[in-house]
Amino acid sequence: MKEYYQPQGMRPASLREREQFYRQEFRLENVKEWFKKTVGRIWFAVIIGTHTGIYPEKYKEDASTKIVIDEYQSLADVKNYILEFLPESVYYDRNVYDEDNRIISQELAFDLDPENVTCPIHGSLADKMQRGQGLSFCELELQMVKDYTVSLYDYLRKRFSLMTVVYSGRGYHIHVFDEEAYGMKRKARKQLAREVKAKGFPVDEWVTAGEMRLIRLPFSLHGLVSRIVVPVQFKELGGFDPVKDERCVPQFVKQQDVIS
Ligand SMILES: [Zn+2]
Repeated sequence: MKEYYQPQGMRPASLREREQFYRQEFRLENVKEWFKKTVGRIWFAVIIGTHTGIYPEKYKEDASTKIVIDEYQSLADVKNYILEFLPESVYYDRNVYDEDNRIISQELAFDLDPENVTCPIHGSLADKMQRGQGLSFCELELQMVKDYTVSLYDYLRKRFSLMTVVYSGRGYHIHVFDEEAYGMKRKARKQLAREVKAKGFPVDEWVTAGEMRLIRLPFSLHGLVSRIVVPVQFKELGGFDPVKDERCVPQFVKQQDVIS
């Protein structure tokens, strides 16, 4: 049981690997495409090294701080910040802001992670915490989270029409882009979060309710598992395996596989 940590091949990325990824593989065109329907300003945020304990020495003090990137001219500036901090995680704020930094609306999202799934082998999050394995997860949990994502997507289809599933590194996100969803009030979001939770979906209520506004940036690197955060077409989800899928395995992992 001690060995249990992450599915095969998933592991924290080193600073050099983060740098290699953001210099060579990170595509700003994709990020731009992601936000093409968003009206207003987007805030980004990074976390340099909270979970991995891997950070540039000069940012030791800020390794566990959420650093907000809200002053930038273009996405190229955002990329430069990322290359400066070499963070384990990159997020964006689902709140949409106007020029005076007032909140206009909020993107609705659902977050499904292995920690909210009870594994027949490893148990619940509480069980894992007790063993000091709070962030550990296995291939079965990854599969279970995917199955839940498929059924939640189906469930939400009755209500929304513009949804995108994103593989988030450890689990999946469902982003809702319907205009109506952007305009939902706090109370309605909370209600929806409770409703899907009551239906048995392992979602993080805070994310759907809007209290936790940060969400992982698609096309960024998840530094804990060395996987690229990627949108996956709903019809492709059944055959999607994040352990080896081309789209989410970064070059530095592929290269290592060739060597070893
Ligand atoms: Zn498990």
